[in-house]
Parts: sequence; C-alpha cells; structure tokens
Amino acid sequence: MNRNVSSALHAEASQHLVGGVNSPVRAFKSVHGDPIYVKDAQGAVITDADDNTLVDFVQSWGPLIHGHAHPSVLNAVTKTMARGTSYGAPHIGEIRLARKVKAIFPMMDLVRFVSSGTEAVMSAIRLARGCTGRDTVLKFEGCYHGHVDALMVNAGSGLATFGIASSPGIPASTVATTVVASLDDEDMVDHIFAEHGEDLAAVVIEPMPANNGLLVQREAFLQHLRKRCDEHGSLLIFDEVITGFRFIEGGITGHVGVTPDLVALGKVIGGGLPVGAYGGPAHLMEHLAPLGPVYQAGTLSGNPLAMAAGCATLDLLDDEAHAHLEGLGTLLEDLAKPMLARHGHPMRLVRQASLFWFSPGPDAPPRRSDLIPSTAGVLYADVHQGLLERGYMLAPSAYEVGFLSTAHEAHHIEGFVAALDDVLTTLEVAQ
Ligand SMILES: *Cc1c(COP(=O)(O)O)cnc(C)c1O
Repeated sequence: MNRNVSSALHAEASQHLVGGVNSPVRAFKSVHGDPIYVKDAQGAVITDADDNTLVDFVQSWGPLIHGHAHPSVLNAVTKTMARGTSYGAPHIGEIRLARKVKAIFPMMDLVRFVSSGTEAVMSAIRLARGCTGRDTVLKFEGCYHGHVDALMVNAGSGLATFGIASSPGIPASTVATTVVASLDDEDMVDHIFAEHGEDLAAVVIEPMPANNGLLVQREAFLQHLRKRCDEHGSLLIFDEVITGFRFIEGGITGHVGVTPDLVALGKVIGGGLPVGAYGGPAHLMEHLAPLGPVYQAGTLSGNPLAMAAGCATLDLLDDEAHAHLEGLGTLLEDLAKPMLARHGHPMRLVRQASLFWFSPGPDAPPRRSDLIPSTAGVLYADVHQGLLERGYMLAPSAYEVGFLSTAHEAHHIEGFVAALDDVLTTLEVAQ
C-alpha cells in the first residue's frame, strides 16, 4: 500500500506542528510508519491522501458512534450554521441537548456544557472541591481523565502513597492533592480512606476504564467506592467521557446499579464536534456560578453547531441502533475468538457494547493496568501495520480500544477478522 503522500504531508507538518500533530498518539510513535492523512471520511470508511480506503475502527477516538459524515448530523449542523456559528448567549439548542442528556442520565438535575472531556472532568473536580471544602482527590492507576493536572498522576512506590506526576510541568503542590489507588482492590481503597478519608473531596474513576486497555471492573468494586464515599462525605465522580451513551442504559451509570454524584461526559455527546458536559443533582450543581460561588465558564460553551451535532447523534441512538451495535459486537466475538485461539498468540478479544480491545496476554483479560504485559506493543505494531496494508485501521497503540459504529456492517467485521487471521498467519511464517 502506497502511503507516499501521507509521508510527505507528515514531513511538511513536522515543520509547523509539534511532531506534526496536535495530539500525541496520532504521531504513530508506537506502531510502524508515518501517520495516515485523511482526505475524506464517510460512514465506516476513511480515504487517505494516497486514495487508499480503510475501514475505520478509530472513529475519531470515540465520538462518531454513527460513523463519519452521517447525513442527519451534517444536516443538523448545516441548518444551524446558516443562523450563526456562535452567539455567546443562550439558545434553544442547549435546552434540547440538556433534556436528552438528562433523559439518559436521570441522576442529573442540572447539566453544564463545556468543550472537551478534559474540561468536563477538570470542572467536575473543581465543583467537588468547592462543594466539600476539601482538596484531595483519589484516582486509579490506569484511568485516563484527559490532561487535567491533578489527574496526570501515577502511583508512586509503596502502598497508598501520593502519586508522581506523569508529565513534567505539573506542580508538586498539585500532585500532593492526588492519591492513587489500584483498580479492583477494595483493601487499598479502604486503607486510603482510613488515612485520608476526611480530606477526600472526590473519588474519580472511569467506571469501565477504556483508555489503557479495556479493564472491566467488578460491580462490587464500584459499589464499594459508593459506600466508602457515603461514609466519608466524599463525592463519587464517574468519568464516562468514553463510555457514555455506548450502553443501552446510557452509560455505566445505568448499566451497573451504582449511582455516582457527578458524571463527566464527552466524545459521543458532541457527535464529532467539541462538546463535554458534567452534571448531577441540583444540590451539587447549584454550587456552580451563576447560582453559586464555584466559577467555571467558556466562550464557546454550548456552541450551537456542537449542540446540534450532539442532538442529532443522540436522536439516532435508538434501540435499533443499539441492537445493531450489539449485533456487530457479537459477530466480532463469534468470529475473532476462535480464530485468535487457533493462532495461540498472546491476544484475546475483550468486548463491551461497541468497544473492543485485544488484550495482549495469555491470561484472562486484566482488571488492572499493571497486569497488562509491558511487551504489549511489540506484536501489536506488526498487527497494526498488517491490518493497514489490508485496509483496516485500528488505533496506533496497543492500549487504545476499537470503536464500532452504526455505520459498520457485518461485512466490515467479517473482512476485518479475515484480515487479522491473514496477518497473524503471515507473522507466523515470518518467524
Ligand atoms: C477522551 C477522554 C477524556 C478526555 O477527553 P478530551 O475530549 O480528549 O479532552 C477524559 N476521560 C476519558 C475517560 C476519556 O476517554
């Protein structure tokens, strides 16, 4: 597959943009070759700058649950755009999207729209701190919450210590407000609550971590967090930026019977335009300005085009759409699982609703990030390249999940599994 134009564009982009990209993982650092430049994208398929077509399982990293350029989404945006692109004043589109979000997340009395998932989580943390008058937050190793300073913290050594910054530029004083626990470990959570419970403003978790593999949590673990938060007056924040709207019940919040205090949303909620949101019960959300003292604002918050794209996306997400996604997911499992078992590579399929991940170990899929073998990327880089050559695009990192959309059809899944089978066979011959 010729990718000369993409490579030339990447060389040019690298003169102007840091590493040629505006978000690091797009740079293909952990897989082979240069990033692929997109020229056009329709439904499940991307056309690159060299006119190759690729079945896309990245789907802009999650927002496009109906695929690229869905006519209803385009139509909603176009119609809205003719009446202006931004007002900096209230408009009916905000009410429409808020109503839909509340119908899907009934724990929300009030919603605040922002422009990214990062902003949603960051603001939810500030609100939790403002409501409780406490500074410390508990997060989990292996969860990603965007590039929020206080959450770009990894576990340090030893049990229940404050963490270490996962990037330079994060003040030690900020890191000192973050405690890091292991996922799937009630004892560690108890230990932390015993030590810091009275200082904890919030426990923040991806209830189904999907940015560092797909680390499906036990419901009992999430219930345990709820219980400890209640006992200590800490708020439980679910970061559903990636999982929100992907489950027929809405998010994990409805899927497992655990109700958080605040939920952060992003990705699907904007249907491919920049939207994030957070919401919860009135007694918490009313602490936010203009009703309360906790300040948070945004020039483009509630942007009319973004609200329109979000409304169109959620309107399309009916029972039939979820049934289609579930059918695709089941087909993927039915075809890929026996095929992967036959090859015997350390590669297992984990699938939840329209999210999937190839777990790079021989054992049962992990619930904690430290159980993902550190060699995960080696086989994946070859698989990723082999799939690109056969017309299938997975995320350029072994730790990222794949996304199914309603634009995918059975033949995309069948072709994908056949291509993966072929790639693995080729890799065996080469060994
Ligand atoms: C993507 C993601 C974020 C960050 O959202 P951005 O829109 O990229 O800022 C935060 N949390 C989770 C769980 C995510 O998947």
